[in-house]
Amino acid sequence: MKKRICILYTGGTIGMVPSEKGYVPSSGVFLDLLRAIPDLYWADMPAWDVVEFEPLLDSSDITVREWNQIGSAIAERYEDYDGFVVLHGTDTMAYSASAISFMLENLSKPVIFTGSQIPLGQIRSDGRDNIISSLLIAASGQVHEVCIYFNGVLLRGNRSTKRSSDQFEAFESPNDAPLAHAGIQIEYKKRVLRPASEEAFRFQPFKELPIGVIKIFPGIQFDYFASLMTDKLKGVVLETFGAGNIPGSAQNALLPIIERAYQNGTIITVCSQCSQGAVSLGTYAASSALRRVGAVNGRDMTTEAALAKSYYLMSVSDDMAFVKSQMQKNLRGELTE
Ligand code: ASP
Repeated sequence: MKKRICILYTGGTIGMVPSEKGYVPSSGVFLDLLRAIPDLYWADMPAWDVVEFEPLLDSSDITVREWNQIGSAIAERYEDYDGFVVLHGTDTMAYSASAISFMLENLSKPVIFTGSQIPLGQIRSDGRDNIISSLLIAASGQVHEVCIYFNGVLLRGNRSTKRSSDQFEAFESPNDAPLAHAGIQIEYKKRVLRPASEEAFRFQPFKELPIGVIKIFPGIQFDYFASLMTDKLKGVVLETFGAGNIPGSAQNALLPIIERAYQNGTIITVCSQCSQGAVSLGTYAASSALRRVGAVNGRDMTTEAALAKSYYLMSVSDDMAFVKSQMQKNLRGELTE
């Protein structure tokens, strides 16, 4: 029997058209463009349906609300399909794939995010292969997790990050090997793919919580931090230097602010500005202070994954000790323990 895949079309370059202001998503044209691709009807292809979101978005406009919409659209149709392909803008695809990987608990079906660098309606579009291969991967029975497929490579969604604004190879997962390569054959790395969950599938929507990301830079000033780190802030991902280092000199007084945030109950997760490698609090004196004030070691998590995981855990529980301990655990393949 043919597998059935649901395509959720949320917007992004793949379906955009030129306008006076630059590329914009356009509703109503995309389905015709898809129907004009003969490969999508070949015998080896799964059957597919399209659900078009309203409004279609440039992914820069995606918020927690849209993550919840994508999650609930999948949850509502979970039993009706063998897999899902989410067409999404590339700019925030790594954030959304991370978010959906946490929202969808106990997955046993594939959710493949893809999009394109050139719209489907234009010459040399990469969208055609990205959609065809994503559909084949979603129907392969090999994948049971949230991934990004782009330019011949399948990556774990919550390990991915956008690496290029103008190359077809738009994504990478520097701390995790690709899950599959699509050459003449699609070769799955069975050893690293997550098995299908045997527990009951569950959708956990996110709360719209005050959570932030702060990138540390040389000369960062006290005031910059103090205005953000109020007792309203539930969580913050610190993008630190190297293995988790922050400036420690007395005059910038960064540490007392972080300490106050910790006392306020804000969960501080330490990630690195390096795309490859892990945070190791305490390796340098410049990071040991973060450990002393109770920051979470984000290890080799991407900022995108750490942010999404903060939303997820704080939506599940108000118990900050629980959130903190779960933050450091590998929940969906997002970090190396
Ligand atoms: N700005 C677009 C978006 O993220 C870029 C893209 O899709 O490649 O929606």
